[in-house]
Amino acid sequence: MAANKISKCLTCSHRERAGIDLALARGVSVRALASRYKLSRDTLYRHAKQHLPAQLRASLIAGPDLSIDLDKLRETESQSLLANLVNLRGRLFSALDVGEENGDANMVARVAGQLHHNLEITGKLLGDLSTGGSTTINNVLVLPAYVQMRVSLVDALRPFPEAARAVASVLHTIEHQAAEAITADKRELAA
Ligand SMILES: [Zn+2]
Repeated sequence: MAANKISKCLTCSHRERAGIDLALARGVSVRALASRYKLSRDTLYRHAKQHLPAQLRASLIAGPDLSIDLDKLRETESQSLLANLVNLRGRLFSALDVGEENGDANMVARVAGQLHHNLEITGKLLGDLSTGGSTTINNVLVLPAYVQMRVSLVDALRPFPEAARAVASVLHTIEHQAAEAITADKRELAA
């Protein structure tokens, strides 16, 4: 019954749920989130009330638990690991935007640190992949220069909220497409 309730929640099934939860936990208004994520206020209110318990809010505010268990990941197939890292990076980017939106320098610094860590692990993985075969990966999400550019860009646009939102929207689109491309690569490699 509970699972059924969750599956009907548009906020729960939103691809940027992590960013939305973080924003709700940090007190960003439902009105702002409704327009930002193209969700109705009703679903956001319901989600905040029913699917975001106080304990989860507290842990989100304390810092998203995005640590990576390397030993566990070694047991998984490399390509799905890459997809997971990219997925995680999408969540980190969303968190970065929430931090920027709230002018929370501490949060921005923390999330940027986690992005850096994510990159290091991805780089190590790609190193492993390139020694193991002839896989070529051309994807913005796995390029350290892209992430540096993104962080600098968002930083430079801080005094211009309108422009920052427009750029963030473009970046989200690019990243979503790139994440889908990686999923496609994965299928190709498996074939
Ligand atoms: Zn929900």
